[in-house]
Amino acid sequence: MGGFKAHSRAGVLWFGLALIPIGAWYYYRFGTDLNSILHQMWQLPVCFICCYLGALFPDVDITSTSQKVIYSIVLVLDITLIVLHYYEIAAWIGVGILVISLLKHRGFTHRLSTAFLIPLPLLVVPILLTENIHEIGVPYYAAAVVGYLSHLWVDR
Ligand SMILES: [Zn+2]
Repeated sequence: MGGFKAHSRAGVLWFGLALIPIGAWYYYRFGTDLNSILHQMWQLPVCFICCYLGALFPDVDITSTSQKVIYSIVLVLDITLIVLHYYEIAAWIGVGILVISLLKHRGFTHRLSTAFLIPLPLLVVPILLTENIHEIGVPYYAAAVVGYLSHLWVDR
């Protein structure tokens, strides 16, 4: 069982592991075209954030520093969506985070299947927004899943 520091450390360290599926994705998309791959390097800091937040997310079901971090981000995201008049999406995100906070600790958020389910919006939302199947958020999704798995590993 890990606390905030242990999960933070795991989120940072496991980003090294996340580089494997991210690298595989870039290879799948661009082959050995190094120039195209270098053009995608701006995604790596975003991937790191996804991995780190993935490592913190499972403890959103208990009063913790991780919960405060995730809630703060969701609050900023929700306010942004409201300002941009995306009321329905903001409401659903609010409902989602409330439901998760009502669940018992180390239940739903600490399941292996949830590690692949919770980050799914990172994969689906870019497709819905761009309607371009080729610009999907695979690297973000992969990074978040690896981060999430790091949390489950630390808590094992
Ligand atoms: Zn945990």
